[in-house]
Amino acid sequence: MPRPLVATIHLAALRHNLSVAKSRAPRAKTWAVVKANAYGHGLSRAMRAFADADGLALIEVDAAVRLREAGWTKPILLLEGFFEPADLPVCAAHGIQFAVHCREQIDMLKKANLQAPVDVHLKLNSGMNRLGFTPEAYKDAHARLSRVGAVRSITLMTHFANADDPSNAGLSLSEQVRRFEHAADGLSGPRSLANSAAVLSHPDLAFDWVRPGIMLYGGTPGGRSAHDFGLKPAMTLASEIIGIQHIDQGESVGYGSRFIAQQPMTIGVVACGYADGYPRHAPGGTPILVDGHRTVLAGRVSMDMITVDLTGIPDAHVGSRVELWGNALPIDEVANAAGTIGYELMCAVAPRVRVIEE
Ligand SMILES: *Cc1c(COP(=O)(O)O)cnc(C)c1O
Repeated sequence: MPRPLVATIHLAALRHNLSVAKSRAPRAKTWAVVKANAYGHGLSRAMRAFADADGLALIEVDAAVRLREAGWTKPILLLEGFFEPADLPVCAAHGIQFAVHCREQIDMLKKANLQAPVDVHLKLNSGMNRLGFTPEAYKDAHARLSRVGAVRSITLMTHFANADDPSNAGLSLSEQVRRFEHAADGLSGPRSLANSAAVLSHPDLAFDWVRPGIMLYGGTPGGRSAHDFGLKPAMTLASEIIGIQHIDQGESVGYGSRFIAQQPMTIGVVACGYADGYPRHAPGGTPILVDGHRTVLAGRVSMDMITVDLTGIPDAHVGSRVELWGNALPIDEVANAAGTIGYELMCAVAPRVRVIEE
């Protein structure tokens, strides 16, 4: 008998969420972001579900090559660029586009003597201070790139820090757009700025290409709920109750005896722990569904199990279905309770979790 923990990937939800992204930015082309094994949903599965995307964008060079080998013929983009000279002939041979974010990459490109043309995305650091050329260095980088014989096209690209958070005091979206417009002024080429947060909150900033990730999987970067935007959960993580304990007032549960019963209680043991990707820091009170009834975590998350309060669910039994997140319990809500974000939960689903698709 297999362990009852299963991640179900909803292909129709992936397709639907892509259509939501496309309809919010109808004049732009869409990179469906499939980095990190399609945010834990499976790369080849996502490739099939995102057949209507104009391109697939990711981070990992080997995964980009696998997409080509699996038959993806539309554009592929490496969002973080290439990492070493040896990546360049691979990209050229497979028609894989890449970001260029630093001088060292331009030097590598100049030396590479590529046999096929490459399409590159010149990254501007518009204030996030992660990757990219400063606004002052941008035009010079563009000119240097233009002189590399193998470079066929240059897309102008930047990334937003706070598109989901209009009140952020650190760096506003409008300031990033202003810096981008200034740095890109006079340069031709397609423009690529918007992640999910911008697609959802600022569709006016779609420009030529949008780069939605989390929204395709039915999560949001923050702010309003996925349901509000008409997005559907693409993953349901579900398991079963595998044990039940009836405990007296004063008894404790699990490692560290962190949970102590204030009255007689029924505790359900669920086959899912942090080695499966459930967040170990999820505190008591984190929501969970048992046979469709909402209840809460009680006691510390262990490696292979969690414990939940079944006191108010008298019909719960060994074999009762438990939803950790998904169709009936938004992943963002669980993430929020655990002090993290839906992205991290999706990406952390462990290899030992059985995955099925429907
Ligand atoms: C991951 C990523 C995205 C997608 O971000 P979401 O918040 O998941 O929509 C877009 N652009 C770049 C450069 C990224 O690295």
